[in-house]
Amino acid sequence: MVERTVTERSAGRDCAWCGTWIVHTGKGRPRRTCSKACRNRVSELKTASARLDRDLAAGRIPTQPRREVVERTVTEIREAVPTRAGEWETLLEELARQLLDVDAKRGLAHRPYDHARIYHAL
Ligand SMILES: [Zn+2]
Repeated sequence: MVERTVTERSAGRDCAWCGTWIVHTGKGRPRRTCSKACRNRVSELKTASARLDRDLAAGRIPTQPRREVVERTVTEIREAVPTRAGEWETLLEELARQLLDVDAKRGLAHRPYDHARIYHAL
């Protein structure tokens, strides 16, 4: 019969704060941090995390904004309707120009179905 014993012990680990490799000497409890500064940072983080959890649970920290201001700007641009003959003349000249402009792709000259609507409107 063969008696076999397997033992394990920590040979080292990463620092819980900075990740520096810590070699375990075999004496005492394996260290979790490489220095006192790292131990303090881990402790502070743990304390702050616990405080945050308590404050969130108690509703002391709002998860949504308490007040929100939404500004809405509406801009309306109204073109003036001509009231004088000269103004109508200018406007109708522009209509005639668009109706005759065959170079303008998708322009009025290429949309004969709109010509009847314009005629009736006039
Ligand atoms: Zn460290």
